[in-house]
Amino acid sequence: MEKKRLKKIGSETGVRCTSVRIIKRYKLDSPDCTGGKTERTTPPDRATEEMEKKRLKKIGSETGVRCKRTTPPDRATEEMEKKRLKKIGSETGVRCTSIPKIALTPVLFFNFRSVAGGANGIFTRRLDFSSFNALPKNKLNSYQIKTEDEGNHGNDDTRCFILSTLASQGRSRVHCVLCEDQLLVFDRYPLVDGTFFLSPRQHAKSCIEVKVEGRTQFLSVVCMGCLEGASGRAIRCRFCNQHWDGTSLVLGTMYSYDIFAAMPCCTERIKCNACYKPVLHPSQRLNFFSDYSHMVPCPHCRTLDTHFVKPLSFCYARLPLRSLQMWP
Ligand SMILES: [Zn+2]
Ligand SMILES: [Zn+2]
Ligand SMILES: [Zn+2]
Repeated sequence: MEKKRLKKIGSETGVRCTSVRIIKRYKLDSPDCTGGKTERTTPPDRATEEMEKKRLKKIGSETGVRCKRTTPPDRATEEMEKKRLKKIGSETGVRCTSIPKIALTPVLFFNFRSVAGGANGIFTRRLDFSSFNALPKNKLNSYQIKTEDEGNHGNDDTRCFILSTLASQGRSRVHCVLCEDQLLVFDRYPLVDGTFFLSPRQHAKSCIEVKVEGRTQFLSVVCMGCLEGASGRAIRCRFCNQHWDGTSLVLGTMYSYDIFAAMPCCTERIKCNACYKPVLHPSQRLNFFSDYSHMVPCPHCRTLDTHFVKPLSFCYARLPLRSLQMWP
């Protein structure tokens, strides 16, 4: 029953839940994210070992990740680079499978052990969950707030992707695309007091360009207050007047699609960006939330575009609507 329920939630939210726990049970000092402690199995000769130690120490001081053993860096091709990262990952416990384009040279890692403001660990260590106290009590669970890595040993792909992308830009803070408030980024889940998402459109200057599976995307953030429609932050569709509701989105993690495009409220939201005729029949809806972030050809003018992903200022107005104030 539990598995089915989690699967259903997963398919609806795009976030896979493996377990559900009450937040207060979450231990901040769980033994993951320690950088790994893989011991070698065969003892090499002493001279080689000494050389290796020196080299690793150098790499460690450059990347902020202490390695027991690794392979010599080779940045000739991306393929080689990927293999090296995979190997480093298996030995250090910091696995980077999604490599942001910008992070390839030099390879940047982050030190999970550092507390806020360190030279390498630029991300903040969350000391408690008090920032979520504004939420209704029934939302303080791991359905609504992502608290744990997928899998063991701090190898979570999403977290690694977000932190390495931000680290490569030297950014420990992000900005909400709606209210522009500054948000701290934390080194563990929940990564932010809001949620990250990927969009094919750059909603704000602060959104970082990334390549995901060959497609150009922008790493974007919405804060908790805007998701919850807190006073003065609620937004409505400028065409049908419907309130945009982000309360069902899981906090502290990342959606791989544009969360504003995912639930088109009216015909204006499904029109072609070139000829302004509806790309879908008014009653037609796509199967998955992520389908609305993909390139589709317009059936009328054949223009290939992410037609459902519109500029936020075009779609939304802040409350109260009577003043007809455009967002922001
Ligand atoms: Zn906001
Ligand atoms: Zn609408
Ligand atoms: Zn068209």
